[in-house]
Amino acid sequence: MAKLKAYANTTLCKGCRLCVGACPVKAITPVMEINAKGYPIIEVDEEKCIGCGSCYRICPDYIFEVR
Ligand code: SF4
Ligand code: SF4
Repeated sequence: MAKLKAYANTTLCKGCRLCVGACPVKAITPVMEINAKGYPIIEVDEEKCIGCGSCYRICPDYIFEVR
């Protein structure tokens, strides 16, 4: 069975960074890139991600999918 990983649809991100602190393995990094809404976005390191779903649960804008 394939391991679960988090995928982020950063077009909807509002730059709150809650997910960065919530990830237990520090797989989410804030980056300088700005999305179309004008917010700084995040990146998920798929190699580090353990598919725990914490980012999915904490993001107020539901940008994560864990699959
Ligand atoms: S919690 Fe959601 S809205 Fe906030 S920075 Fe992370 S992905 Fe963006
Ligand atoms: S699913 Fe868990 S390990 Fe993966 S990025 Fe989200 S919080 Fe981090």
